[in-house]
Parts: sequence; C-alpha cells; structure tokens
Amino acid sequence: MNKSIWNIEKRLDCGYLVYNTLTGGGVVLQEDEYIKYKSKPEDLESNIKSILYENGLLTNFLEEDEYAFYWNFYHTLVYQSIFDELHLVLLPTYKCNMACTYCFEQNKYLKDSLKYTFPIKALIGFIENLFNIYKFNKVRTVFYGGEPMIFLEEIVNITEELNKWSSKNGIKYSFSIVTNGTILQKSALRKLIKYGLDEVQITIDGPERVHNIRRPFLNGKGTFKRIISNLDLFLKYSKIDVTIRINIDEHNCEQIGGLIDFFIQKGYTKKNNFTYYAGLADPQKPPTDWTNSYIPLRLDQRIYTYLKAWNLIMEKEQNVVNMLDYHKYKFGLCPAKVYGSFFIDPNGDLYSCYSLVGNKEFKIGDIYNGPSPFYYRLFYLQDKKLKECLDLKCPYVPLCNAGCLYHAYVEHSDISQKVCQRKFYEDVWLRIKGEIYERICRVQQ
Ligand code: SF4
Ligand code: SF4
Repeated sequence: MNKSIWNIEKRLDCGYLVYNTLTGGGVVLQEDEYIKYKSKPEDLESNIKSILYENGLLTNFLEEDEYAFYWNFYHTLVYQSIFDELHLVLLPTYKCNMACTYCFEQNKYLKDSLKYTFPIKALIGFIENLFNIYKFNKVRTVFYGGEPMIFLEEIVNITEELNKWSSKNGIKYSFSIVTNGTILQKSALRKLIKYGLDEVQITIDGPERVHNIRRPFLNGKGTFKRIISNLDLFLKYSKIDVTIRINIDEHNCEQIGGLIDFFIQKGYTKKNNFTYYAGLADPQKPPTDWTNSYIPLRLDQRIYTYLKAWNLIMEKEQNVVNMLDYHKYKFGLCPAKVYGSFFIDPNGDLYSCYSLVGNKEFKIGDIYNGPSPFYYRLFYLQDKKLKECLDLKCPYVPLCNAGCLYHAYVEHSDISQKVCQRKFYEDVWLRIKGEIYERICRVQQ
C-alpha cells in the first residue's frame, strides 16, 4: 500500500487536504488520520483506507511503476483518441464585428487571410483521408474565429455537409461554438441545434462598464446589453450548455465581482446548463504597447491576475458545488498535445493551438496535403519536455503536462523551451483548491 506520487497536501483549518492531481479526488483528514497516512497508511481505519483508495490517494503501485503507468496512460490518450473522435476547430473567418482591445486580430499577418468561403470540399477530403486510416466513431468540430457567427451561413453549410458525410459513414457528428455572443438570433439557433450544436462559449469581460470598454463593437458602441439579451434568449429556449469565459488581465481582474453579482441576480448560476470561469487573456505575441504592458504574459503576472480574480469569485460565489465546477485546470490534454486534433483556418491551413492559430511560423500543414513534418516534431518536443518533468518528480504533471507551447513562445520565442508553471500551481491553484475544501468542511459541519 503506497501513497500516490500525484498526491499533494495542504493544511486547512478543518484538517489536512490530500488531493490527487490525476484523479481529481480530494479528502480532508483529521490530524490523527493524517499522521497515520504519512507514516503507516495500513494502520488507518478500513473505511478511511477505502475512501483513499477510491480517490486514487492510496495505490498498490510502486513509485517507478506509477510513473511508467502515467507515461503509458498519457500516450494512450494522445495517440488513441483519434480512433474514437476526430477533433477539429474550424475558423470560418478571422473577421470580427468587435474591436477588443487585446485581440490577436490586430496582427498584420491575419489581414491577408480574410476569406469569405470556407473550402468545404477540401475539408471533407481531409476528413475522409483521416477516416480511411483511423476509422473514428465521431467527428467533433468547434467553430472559432474571428467571430464565427458572422458567417452563420458558412457554419450551416459546413455542418450540413458534415452531417451528410457522417451519416453516410455511420458516425456521429456534433459541434460547439466559441462566440462573442452578439449574433445569436433565435432562428439561427434552431437551425444549429438541428445540425448538432450542443455547447456555446461566450466571452464577457466584466460588469457592463468594464466589458464595454474592453469589448466594443467596431463602431465603438458597447456590446454588453446585446450579449445579455442574446444570452437570456439562449437560456430560455435551449437546454444547451453555456459557458461564460471571463478573460482576465491586470486591467479587469479586480473588477469581475460586479459581473458575478449580475449572474447571481439574474438567476443564471442556478441553471444546470450555465457555468462560468475566469481564464487569463492570451493574445498572440503582443502587437501593441497596450498588450505589451498589461496582458499577463509572464508567470508572475499570471499568478497575480488569477489570484485577484479568484479571490473575488470565492467572495461572491456561495455554492461550493459550482465552485469546484468553475475551478478549471483539471487533468486533461489541451488540443495541441492530442494527435489528430487540428485547427483549420479560412485558407485551409492547419495549426495545433488556440493561441498560435494564424501565425504562419506555426503552421503544421494544410487540408490539401495533410500534416507537415513540423506537426510530428511538436509531439517529439513535447515528449522530451514531459520526460524532464517526470524525472523532476513534479506532482503537478497531470495538470500541466510540461506546460503550454504558447507560453514558451511568448516567454522564450521558442516553443521547444519549457515554461514551468509549478509556482502557479503551488501559490495559486493549491491555495484556491484548499479554500474550496475549507468551505466544503464548513457546509458539512
Ligand atoms: S498549447 Fe497552450 S495556448 Fe495552445 S492550446 Fe494548449 S494550453 Fe492552449
Ligand atoms: S512544467 Fe513545471 S509544473 Fe509543469 S509539469 Fe513540468 S515541472 Fe511540473
């Protein structure tokens, strides 16, 4: 009987939190239980041992076997997922009806790529080639941009074609949309639901005044009221999951409390299909002085920003179940680390990452010729970094998996470098997790 290598611990007022970064299981032990857990777990009472086993906190693996298991588990997910599902993020356009202050749209190289017709035929050919090799059961697309809803007709055409192709080949098709929320008419919604829409993500950056400064329409007018009226409509007429992403940086991280109050007043947080979370604003490499000075590009800025925002969320949000749900950064692989996950831009170019899409330096092929050698090199580089992290015995590997390509690009101009997030996990992530469990203890008392 051993303690898992993925366990981390935190002293709370109500006991000791022992948390497993791979399973996401957390248990609060009392002092006497904790002492036994540390020194001789076999002496713990059998019901406590069972709970620790169920949550992956105790295991029969030896230490080196648990590392070996993780290496295999990780690679199974990386390479096997395409046999189940092909995951494509489609950008029908880089164009947008808004002029957000920090948006990557300001990069010059994207201006050349504006197109109005997505190469659907070539897309189907690309999918078919992959299907002939992997025989996946599902195709999942995410529409992203620019603002994808500007080209609603393109989305309808693409989803229609993908539905036809999928049913001909006996596989499932579904999709989600990442949208700014300003164009969500009822009639469009019905059509999209019919074709397989099952999730929408909308970005709101704070209460009305703050959001409107950061995310105006192209003509400078505020977008908040329009988004909220569309959101009301959406929540009234559909049961589809809606996630609000609050983009945070040093400008707005202390002001998001008003938005959370607003969500609570509107009754959104009581709805089963509504969640929100605060995520760090990630533009491309800073195109302007403004982003250069304010966007949380460096680790210390990210720590400051995230902590400020989460303190406000903790202050406002009373529902601990919601809180656990909103606290992202669980085990999982981002699209850039999964084999067979592609971002496809309006030109049919392939990329592997949300924040590097459109940057030609990181193009990994196109839908006409398939992935390029650079695509395979990314997996090799990632494996080298992951091996280093496992050799360091970092308990945060399941959450971080050797960090983010984009952060490496921003901090070192070189994606083969590692930007270690350990300080972020220790100083921010674990602290927030501890506070959530502290609240759970209080609710249970
Ligand atoms: S590499 Fe980083 S920015 Fe890119 S998709 Fe993964 S987590 Fe997101
Ligand atoms: S980059 Fe740092 S925090 Fe992330 S897994 Fe590696 S050692 Fe751990």
